[in-house]
Amino acid sequence: MSCKVVLAQSISASYREELKNIIKSRNIRPKLVGFLANDDPAAVMYAEWTAKTCAETGVEFELRKCSRNVLEEKIIEANQDVNVHGIMVYYPVFGDRQDQYLQNVVDVSKDVEGLHHKYVYNMYHNIRFLDEAKTKKCIIPCTPLGLVKVMEYVGVYNGILPYGNRLHGRIVTVINRSEIVGRPLAALLANDGAKVYSVDINGIQEFHRGVGLQLKKHEVSETTLKLEDVLPLSDVVITGVPSPAYKVPSHLIRDGAVCINFSTFKNFDGDEIKKKAAIYVPSVGKVTVAMLERNLVRLYDYQTQSQAA
Ligand code: NAD
Repeated sequence: MSCKVVLAQSISASYREELKNIIKSRNIRPKLVGFLANDDPAAVMYAEWTAKTCAETGVEFELRKCSRNVLEEKIIEANQDVNVHGIMVYYPVFGDRQDQYLQNVVDVSKDVEGLHHKYVYNMYHNIRFLDEAKTKKCIIPCTPLGLVKVMEYVGVYNGILPYGNRLHGRIVTVINRSEIVGRPLAALLANDGAKVYSVDINGIQEFHRGVGLQLKKHEVSETTLKLEDVLPLSDVVITGVPSPAYKVPSHLIRDGAVCINFSTFKNFDGDEIKKKAAIYVPSVGKVTVAMLERNLVRLYDYQTQSQAA
């Protein structure tokens, strides 16, 4: 077996080092507040990782636990506190549209997760900067961004091509089309030039910028294709199905593919996938946390620049 297993720890190491150096050399202390209003084990684990990585890089992290019924008021308090530079909420809280409402209660200038409507809209529309002068990059939701960084690290992005087109020619299957990860990820990858098969429980859509990348932003078309049609074509397979029973059928994976799992469950059979994949990334959580902190430093700079102006 010649499969290379790449761990999130290794992928995130250079980002953590970069953050540590920026924070130390500039002698800054950005503060992130995380709100935990549920006892979901995945959220608790995510909060623990956030605390650990922040301690390592020099970010001040405060976990505020509260009941979900007072969460909105607590977010507003943090929005108004000039000593808080970034805010995040461990979802799901209500598990329905109320969570979407809460994502927009977080002030856009402090939204380290990039879940505010403005950032989500800009991402879908391939608007990469917040200002006309193109000095302030938009915040990108941290799990999809983390997955982009994983793909850059393992060499799926082609650095010879211009920025914005570096996935031209790549075919990627993303198994998950949630609003938090799968759909934004499919859009980001298609905006960067890939042809993406976005798979959910009901079917498959294709996200792309057309032949020769003639479109400025991706478009979506419905397909009647099945997983058995798209997996053998895919250079990269990314999966995030939240079920311990779900396994991507290894026999359909193309020889030499890149396989990435972001579900908390192992969506690939570890032994089988190593017989087919060139590169296997079993989890990405640590990269997500590094992106969260990277977004925080960016927002810290935007806030302090606008205070100084
Ligand atoms: P979700 O329940 O909102 O979405 C699940 C998606 O998977 C849906 O699009 C659904 O249609 C699809 N799906 C379910 N069963 C399927 C099947 N049999 N075939 C094809 N598609 C199927 O969940 P979510 O919030 O997107 O989270 C998914 C997983 O990713 C969870 O395990 C979560 O903990 C994990 N997650 C990880 C990170 C990270 O940084 N590592 C971040 C967010 C979520």
